[in-house]
Order: sequence, then structure tokens, then C-alpha cells
Amino acid sequence: MIFIIIIYIIQGVIFGFAVDSVITNKGYNDNWFWLGFFFGFFALIVALSKPEVTHVHYSESLLLQKAQKEHILDTGGWKCCFCHSINAFNVTSCSCGMSKDESERRMREKQQAAASSDAFAQSEAETIELIGQYKKLLDSGALTQQEFDAKKQALLSSATHRS
Ligand SMILES: [Zn+2]
Repeated sequence: MIFIIIIYIIQGVIFGFAVDSVITNKGYNDNWFWLGFFFGFFALIVALSKPEVTHVHYSESLLLQKAQKEHILDTGGWKCCFCHSINAFNVTSCSCGMSKDESERRMREKQQAAASSDAFAQSEAETIELIGQYKKLLDSGALTQQEFDAKKQALLSSATHRS
């Protein structure tokens, strides 16, 4: 009698783990161990016949949201600079309280700031490049140390003036 119970428990545990791992592999968060334990083979069949959880619905809705946002922007909508919500063109004030005009003004300022810092990085890179070339001339003897220092000084001060 005890022997039969032990066999039953071992079989239950095996089916419990098997069913639970099938269900977990299919992407479910549920614990099917006890279903497997008590219903054994039957639970395994049910678990195997369950469809896999794919996150299709989730990503589809994300894609849809993205398409909707793009559509709103294409039709003259605007993006709030503060909370990044997308608002239709006829919305004059975002749900966070930011007005359309203010948001667009700040967006323009941000873009200008980014563009000018790019230009600064560019001019600085050019300056460094030129100094490197003058350094080669100095090393080869084509320029004296004084000439090199003067060139370097001129480049550095013009770079500072441009920024
Ligand atoms: Zn906002």
C-alpha cells in the first residue's frame, strides 16, 4: 500500500514538473505544478495543447500607437517638449499644461543649441588637426619654435572667437 502511494507521489512530482515546465516554456506565468501532480497525463495533454503566449498583441498595439503618433505629426501635430506627449495640430495646450507655442519655441532653441555645439566641436577638431600639422612642420624643421607658437596662438584664439 505504502509502495503504491510512493509511486503515485513520484509520478505526481514528475508530471507536476513536466507540466509546469511546458506551461512556463509557452510563456505563461501560472504555476501548473499541482495540476500536473493531480491530473498527471491529462494535465500534460492540456498544457501541450495550450497556445504559446506570444507578445504579438502587445507589440501590435505599440506599432499601432507609433503609427497613430506619426500620423498626428504628419498632419501638423506637435510633440510636447516637457512631457513628450504627441498632440494634434488643433490642440493648443498639452495635458501637462505646456502650450503649443511655448513648446515649439523651446524645441527650436534646443535644436539651435545642439547645432551650435556641433559647430563648436567641429571647429575645435579642425583647430586640433591644424595644430598637429604645424607640429609636423616644426618637427621637420620647416617652422621655428617661435613661428609654431605664433601659429598655434592664432589658431587657438580664432577658435575661441568663433564659439
Ligand atoms: Zn506635455
